[in-house]
Amino acid sequence: MSDLKYCQGPDCHTYHTQDRLKGTKPNKTYQTRRRSYLLFGEFCDRRCSEDWFRKYGTQAVNHFGRLTEAKHLTEQNAWTKDYDWRNSTPGNDERYYYFINTITREQRPLTEAQYNDTNYTINTGE
Ligand SMILES: [Zn+2]
Repeated sequence: MSDLKYCQGPDCHTYHTQDRLKGTKPNKTYQTRRRSYLLFGEFCDRRCSEDWFRKYGTQAVNHFGRLTEAKHLTEQNAWTKDYDWRNSTPGNDERYYYFINTITREQRPLTEAQYNDTNYTINTGE
């Protein structure tokens, strides 16, 4: 069996679904769900993740660092990968791969291998 983990939703046990109702009469209780797959690795469903965030989100943001000024995506870091069929002939769907700067619109050619390499970038910072 795969590892079952408890949902971290603070109110998971209060939702009245048949799968949460466990035990035998007269000791049946609604219980926190256990799953092998959890949303974000922690929650049985979106409602439970939202319950958690509503209760702990502000504390978590304060703990890990609140953003207090706008972040800036500069020209140096605005390169994204794309492709099109600009040089292909009918019946030949060879792709043309390129970087495009989302601020300046400058394009630079890429090889297919560079396109597929998720670590390959020409961005220079965050
Ligand atoms: Zn849950």
